Amino acid sequence: MNKKQIINVLEDIALYMEVKGENPFKISAYRKAAAALEGDVRSITEIEDITKIKGIGKGTGEVITELMTTGETSVLIALQAEIPASLMALLKIPGLGGKRIAKLYKELGIDSIESLKQACEAGQIRTLAGFGAKTEEKYLAGIAEVETRADRHAIWRIEPVVNHINQVLATSEFVNQYSVAGSYRRTNETSKDIDFIVATAEPVKLRNYLLEKLAVHEIVAAGDTKVSVVLDGEELMPVDFRFVTDKQYATALHHFTGSKDHNVRMRQIAKERGEKISEYGVEQADGTVITFKTEADFFAHFDLPFIPPAIRTGREEFERELPKQATIKADLHMHTTWSDGASAIHEMGDALQQKGYTHAAITDHSQFLAVANGLTPARLRQQRLEIEAYNKAHPNFRLFAGTEMDILPDATLDFEDDVLRELDFVIAAIHSSFNQTEEQIMARMYAAMKNPYVHMIAHPTGRVIEKREGYAVNMSQLIAWAKQYGKILELNANPYRLDLCEEHLRMAVEAGVPIAINTDAHSIEQLAYMSVGERYAQKAYVPQELLVNTWTREQFEQFIMR
Ligand SMILES: [Zn+2]
Ligand SMILES: [Zn+2]
Repeated sequence: MNKKQIINVLEDIALYMEVKGENPFKISAYRKAAAALEGDVRSITEIEDITKIKGIGKGTGEVITELMTTGETSVLIALQAEIPASLMALLKIPGLGGKRIAKLYKELGIDSIESLKQACEAGQIRTLAGFGAKTEEKYLAGIAEVETRADRHAIWRIEPVVNHINQVLATSEFVNQYSVAGSYRRTNETSKDIDFIVATAEPVKLRNYLLEKLAVHEIVAAGDTKVSVVLDGEELMPVDFRFVTDKQYATALHHFTGSKDHNVRMRQIAKERGEKISEYGVEQADGTVITFKTEADFFAHFDLPFIPPAIRTGREEFERELPKQATIKADLHMHTTWSDGASAIHEMGDALQQKGYTHAAITDHSQFLAVANGLTPARLRQQRLEIEAYNKAHPNFRLFAGTEMDILPDATLDFEDDVLRELDFVIAAIHSSFNQTEEQIMARMYAAMKNPYVHMIAHPTGRVIEKREGYAVNMSQLIAWAKQYGKILELNANPYRLDLCEEHLRMAVEAGVPIAINTDAHSIEQLAYMSVGERYAQKAYVPQELLVNTWTREQFEQFIMR
């Protein structure tokens, strides 16, 4: 144990004793010992006789020696066994220290955040000497903050934070390699926190750099191998950085990406070969530890293909053939300045070409969505001229002229068939009257399904992750119709949406319905959502032939011209 860790343990002991209501002299002995160590400039190994330091007595000296030799102390272990964790959790509430917690426990039997909340709401706290109605208010606000922090964070909340941290790490001279890990890397819809693995030879400098560059709300821990912070933002966001060496990097990244069940299976596989996987390498029978350049090398060592993070569930990935790495050739749903997008047609076109796509569809909103400056048939015709001019100037790439047409609340479509007939690619979507019954919603879907000019249903459920359930769609019915009428269903790659969800994707694959991953981009930057959708689609093992984005331009043209 290093000095900092020992100091932390001494302070923990003092806190536990305080919560327990222990003799104040005993408590202050531990605080004094911690302060004495902190004030001594030597490292722990440079100190010969610990009890010679002023402030460290016989009792605390013994605890420190115990920590140095065994890494733990019976004093803290006994306290932890005695005092419930739920009582210690009260320390997270701003304004609550050991002494006050001890009093609340002794006088009112408050032993958890939950019981504190009830007591505040019942006005019981103000009955204690030294506590008032203001205190109750303060505690309730603190509880609310702690609860939000404990919450799971939606992928769309995490995504911009991860992008920002990526930038911060990319511009540091102390970083050799880095990656986000954890459930975000597995493209889960929500995560409790964000994990980063960073290979560095300068952990201390890197730690200081990160603490300076990031909007830190709270430092939870700042050691040489791990920095835990809570970042400011619309939602307070817990982020852990783990510092490793270059050699440890691949194994650490794999380990901290999880899932837990996936790691359990990997350890079993290793055990059967007489090996042992740790965070930092693979230990051989003779005790030597081997390390890897990349995660792919790590998997190859166990005769496994690279398993994409999104499917590391500990289940199918070891049993079935993995989906092939898809080459995305097209994005088929996006908006421009013609409706509510931020970028012009030529800007979108250039950005799409830069991504290496061969084709794409411009699909601005239709007239019903007046708030989004939806296009009338006349404006659609004008827009087509601009699209054709762009295509003429870029013969190796093609923009298809399309629409994202509203399916109206009365189960009619926003354009007549003779308008739809002129368009290359027709998306139908619901953007209104979300609260209708399943019968009404499905009547609207059916109107789109049976129309011969409609090619695709966009965001088929209308959900917003962690925010909105979506409309009352009967998904089995929708998929059956898509199969019957030859329509595409969309996996909307915007991290707010991600519908179809994994379960629905699997149902669509089962039925053989083609799926398009689309960004629904409203600016060139949002074209980047494609990778979120790609990773999410892996979860459902969508085969290439059903993934419309992987079709060649000729294949796609054949599909839309029938
Ligand atoms: Zn839409
Ligand atoms: Zn859209």
